[in-house]
Amino acid sequence: MVSALVLNIRANPCTNRCRHCWAEGSPDHTAKPTAEVKSTLEELAAALPLLEAADFFLLDEPTNRPDFVEIFEYAAGLGLLGPNSFVATNGSGLARAGADTWRRLQATGLRYLQFTFYGVGETHDRFAGRRGAFDDVVAAVRGADEAGFPWYGAVILRPGDAGDVRGTVEYVEKLGAPEKVGYFGYAAQGRGAKGRRPTTEGEAEKASLESGTTFASERRLREAILADGELSQRRVEELFCPPLVLEVDAGGEVSCGGACDSGGLAGAVPELKTLFSLGRLGDKTLAAMIEDYRQDLPAPLRAVAGVTWGQLAAQYGDPANEDLFWAADVVISKWARDYLRERYGPR
Ligand code: SF4
Repeated sequence: MVSALVLNIRANPCTNRCRHCWAEGSPDHTAKPTAEVKSTLEELAAALPLLEAADFFLLDEPTNRPDFVEIFEYAAGLGLLGPNSFVATNGSGLARAGADTWRRLQATGLRYLQFTFYGVGETHDRFAGRRGAFDDVVAAVRGADEAGFPWYGAVILRPGDAGDVRGTVEYVEKLGAPEKVGYFGYAAQGRGAKGRRPTTEGEAEKASLESGTTFASERRLREAILADGELSQRRVEELFCPPLVLEVDAGGEVSCGGACDSGGLAGAVPELKTLFSLGRLGDKTLAAMIEDYRQDLPAPLRAVAGVTWGQLAAQYGDPANEDLFWAADVVISKWARDYLRERYGPR
């Protein structure tokens, strides 16, 4: 049942405080000591025989760690950098990186860097909550291009820019030599669940609907699910992330259903996090936690797995909400969240 694993390790603070951040990145978080990060990676390496693939991410922003490259060299030595391994970054720790840093990073086998944009110039800075954030990501892009390091551009659709997102995508495409540039809505998790969200009537929704992707307002998604028998009968478990997503918190506690932008349930109901716990590293190995998960899903995942999209849409869908969502996100982060809150109550 578990073929691949994504391990999100809470290991660093962030320079930014972006308004949409599902991981709630913040300068207030503390850095996990190098030895602890390495020992968590060793746990992951020991679990590899149980898995077809494994990836890891260091949350919040890894590139500002003085040991950033050293950790990726260590991970490479443990066989943890696969053919699609990447680092999602705001570029702040790479903006002033020298040729040696780029050379060492390239030697790890890391496949690419993903730089995130929230608009151009001050627009980006305002959304990221830091003056200079845009200059940093542009400088990091230039450094990557000079070093010949592959990168992708991820443009986040912000509230108020639905008609403008294509302009930012075009800007990023011309900024350097990206392998790919795309736009993303944001998950209704973490800070993304709290603030104002992007709404309809823009180019993004139009382009999404034209291309057959399912990025639309809650109103439209609800109507589409209720009108389509096949969609209505789909079960929530079809939306569980195909890889098992685990999160290791600052204290070593490991929980499943982790915050992940493809629909982690625990990220949608952080107040129920203890129900998703698989144990603490040091008391139990990561491999044993994966085996336990295989034997017995945690209660909230079992509870919601068989519920259909149609049931959730009818009971929790808001027929008047014009906020934009990916279909999977509205089902998991909003409707299944409300189902679990009703079932388990406030903790
Ligand atoms: S989205 Fe990335 S850069 Fe922004 S606060 Fe979160 S971790 Fe930091």
